[in-house]
Amino acid sequence: MDQTRVQVRPRRRSEIEILPLGGCGEIGMNLMLYGFQSRWLIVDCGMALRQDLPDTPLQIPDISSLATLGIHPEAIVITHGHEDHLGALGWLWPRFGCPIHATPLAAGIARQKLVEQGLATDAIRTFTPGARFDAGPFSVQSLNVAHSIPESVSLLLEVDRHRILHTGDWKIDPRPLLGARTREQDFTRIAPVDLVVGDSTNAMVEDHSRSESEVAATLEQLMAGREGRIVVSCFASNLARILATGLAARRHHRRIALLGRAMEKMVRLGRELGYLEDFPDTVPLSDIGYLPSEETLILATGSQGEPRAALSRLAANQHSALEIEPGDCIIFSSRAIPGNERAVTRLQQAFTQRGAHVFSDETHPGLHASGHPGRDELISLYQWVKPAHLLPVHGESAHQQAHCDIADTLGIKSSILPVNGQWLRWNGKRMTTEETLPLSPIIISQRKRARKPSNRQNDTVIVLPVTYQTDTGQWQRIGRMLIDSQISAFVDEETLGDWVDITLEGMTARSARELAHLLEEMANHWLKEQLRQSSRVTIDVVDTTLHE
Ligand SMILES: [Zn+2]
Ligand SMILES: [Zn+2]
Repeated sequence: MDQTRVQVRPRRRSEIEILPLGGCGEIGMNLMLYGFQSRWLIVDCGMALRQDLPDTPLQIPDISSLATLGIHPEAIVITHGHEDHLGALGWLWPRFGCPIHATPLAAGIARQKLVEQGLATDAIRTFTPGARFDAGPFSVQSLNVAHSIPESVSLLLEVDRHRILHTGDWKIDPRPLLGARTREQDFTRIAPVDLVVGDSTNAMVEDHSRSESEVAATLEQLMAGREGRIVVSCFASNLARILATGLAARRHHRRIALLGRAMEKMVRLGRELGYLEDFPDTVPLSDIGYLPSEETLILATGSQGEPRAALSRLAANQHSALEIEPGDCIIFSSRAIPGNERAVTRLQQAFTQRGAHVFSDETHPGLHASGHPGRDELISLYQWVKPAHLLPVHGESAHQQAHCDIADTLGIKSSILPVNGQWLRWNGKRMTTEETLPLSPIIISQRKRARKPSNRQNDTVIVLPVTYQTDTGQWQRIGRMLIDSQISAFVDEETLGDWVDITLEGMTARSARELAHLLEEMANHWLKEQLRQSSRVTIDVVDTTLHE
C-alpha cells in the first residue's frame, strides 16, 4: 500500500517587530512598541522636560504615523513611575484608549496624569511586581528590580517561542531601604533569553551603583550637630530617600515640612500605599517659620533648577512662607540630569549668595545614588539571563555603544544601535531594519495644562477632552468627561455625552477656544430646556490633538 510521506518541517517563527519612538539616542521620553502578527504592545509612555527651551516645555513621543501604518496598540505596560516612563500618558493614551498595566505605585501616578487632563482612569489595571499577565499578543512576566523608585519591574515578553527581556530602569542594590531587590534567582530562572532590550544609562560607568542605604547614612552625618534650618532636595519619586530624610529629621529632633506640589502628592501616595508608615507627621509650610530654625527641616522638589519650582523661589527670596538665612544648610540629594547642569549650578549659587551652606554630590558623593546599572551590574545580569542578543536602549549613542562593548566581552551579539523611529524586525536570531520613520519633536507648553474646574454655586463645570480630526475637519470627544455640578438633578453623563457628540458633528471651530465658546452657548440653551432651571455652565475644552 502506498503511503504518502509527510515531511514534518519545523514551523517558521513569525517575526517580532520592534519600534522605539523615544529613549534611543537620548535619555528621557521612553516609548517602545513591540508587534507580533500586526498586534501591538507599548512598553512605557514617557516625556522629557526641555530645560534647554524657554519656559521649560515638555516633549512627548511623536505617534502621529502609527494610525496610518495600521498600528493600533492593544495595551500599554508601564515599567515604573518615573516621568520619562509614564509622563506622556495624559496626552498619548487618549489616542489608544487601551488598557494601561502598572504596579500600584506607578498606577497611582498614572491616575494623577489622566485626571490632570480631565480623563477617566478606568483603563488602568494594576499588577503586583512579579505577576504574570497577558497584554496585547504577549504573555508578560514581570520581575522585581531595584531602582530609585519602588515597584520597578523588568518585563519578560513571550509569544510563539520568542523570549525578550525588556529590563526597564534597574540596578543591583543589596539594601534598597524600600521596595524589592533585584534577585539573582528571579533572573536565572528565566535564562536563557533570546534578546535583552536593556538600560544603557550607566554603561560608561565602571563602578557599581551606590546603595540607597549609603545615601541615608550620608544624609544623617550631614545633619548631625547642625544649627540653622536644613533643606533637603531630592526627586519626589524617590520614596526611599524621602523616608531616610524623614527618619533622620526625627532623630535630630527636627519637624519636617514639604515644599513643592509634587512632593506633597508623592508623600500622600507613598503613605496610601504603606511605604511611609514610619515617616513623621509633617508641619504645614506656613507654620514652619514660627518654629526655631534648628528644629526644622524642609523636604523639597526642584533639585533640577526648574525656574518655576518652589525651591528656585526660595533661593531668590521670593517665597511667601520662608526665608533662607546665613548658616542654613541646603542639601542637594540628587544629581543634575544631563542638560540641567547650568540651571542647577545657578540655583546652588543663589543659595550660597544668601550665606547658606550648600552640599551636593560634588562635595559629598555619598549624597546621591544612581538608579542605573554600572558595568559590573550589567555583567552580573547578563551572566544570570544569558541573552544571545542585546538591543541597547535608554541612553545616548555613546552609552549605547559602551553597552554593546560590554556585551561583546560576554559573547552577546549586538548588531544595531537603535535610534528613535527605527523599525526593526527580530526573527529570533537576527535583527534587521525595515525602515526609519521620520519623527517630529512634539513640544507641549506647561502653561497649556488643563485648568482645575473652579466651581461657584449653581455652576456646572464640564471638562471635555477633544481631538481635532484633520481628515474631516471636525472635533471629536475623546474619553469620558469630568462633570462637576452643584445641581442635584443634573443630566446623566450618557445623555450629555450623546448631546456633545451630535453637536460636535455639526460644528466647525478653528481653535479649542472657539469651540469652547460656541459649545458653552449651545450647552446653556440645551441644559435650560432639559433641567427647567437656569444654570451657568462652563466648558473646559482640553485639546489633546498633537500639534507639531
Ligand atoms: Zn528612565
Ligand atoms: Zn527610572
